[in-house]
Amino acid sequence: MEHTVNLARIYYPVLTLGPGKRAGIWLAGCGRDCPGCITPELRVPESGRPVAVSEIMRYITELGPDIQGFTISGGEPFWDPAGLMALTTAIFTVSADIIVYTGYTLGQLREKNSPEIEEVLRTISVLIDGPYVQELDDGVGLRGSSNQQIHVFREMENYETLYSGRRSQQLVVDRQRVMTIGIPG
Ligand code: SF4
Repeated sequence: MEHTVNLARIYYPVLTLGPGKRAGIWLAGCGRDCPGCITPELRVPESGRPVAVSEIMRYITELGPDIQGFTISGGEPFWDPAGLMALTTAIFTVSADIIVYTGYTLGQLREKNSPEIEEVLRTISVLIDGPYVQELDDGVGLRGSSNQQIHVFREMENYETLYSGRRSQQLVVDRQRVMTIGIPG
């Protein structure tokens, strides 16, 4: 069966959501309504379109071997756990550096006892978890607010800048649309 994800956008190189030159993948759909959300347009599932994971992998292969990692955000990537699992397991065949942002806490994800979610957690290297809380935004590191936690599952030394690195934003033009990528400082 062909797996799809509800893809809002994919961009390379992303320089502001993790170490190195990364491919950024944004998935649409989120049931939350966090005040100050930096991607409110992606809360609506209709802001994405179903794209086969194999098509995304073809695109990634065309980008060449210089991609240093992947960051998956949204929206809420766990909106569709089966699609996310298909995506992270496919990416894991080419890279062990996968960062995922989610509005769920790690504990909430584990409580779901979902094989798909467990497989996502097995294949990714970092989970940045919890809803964005504007009042707790301290401008530090690559989590949005201090309630969020950065869980590094392997190769801790690669991700030190996530905790304390300066935030920055990248201005890009994608399909004649200007957008900013990164967490506001
Ligand atoms: S969980 Fe993330 S995408 Fe969803 S509303 Fe909150 S900040 Fe926005």
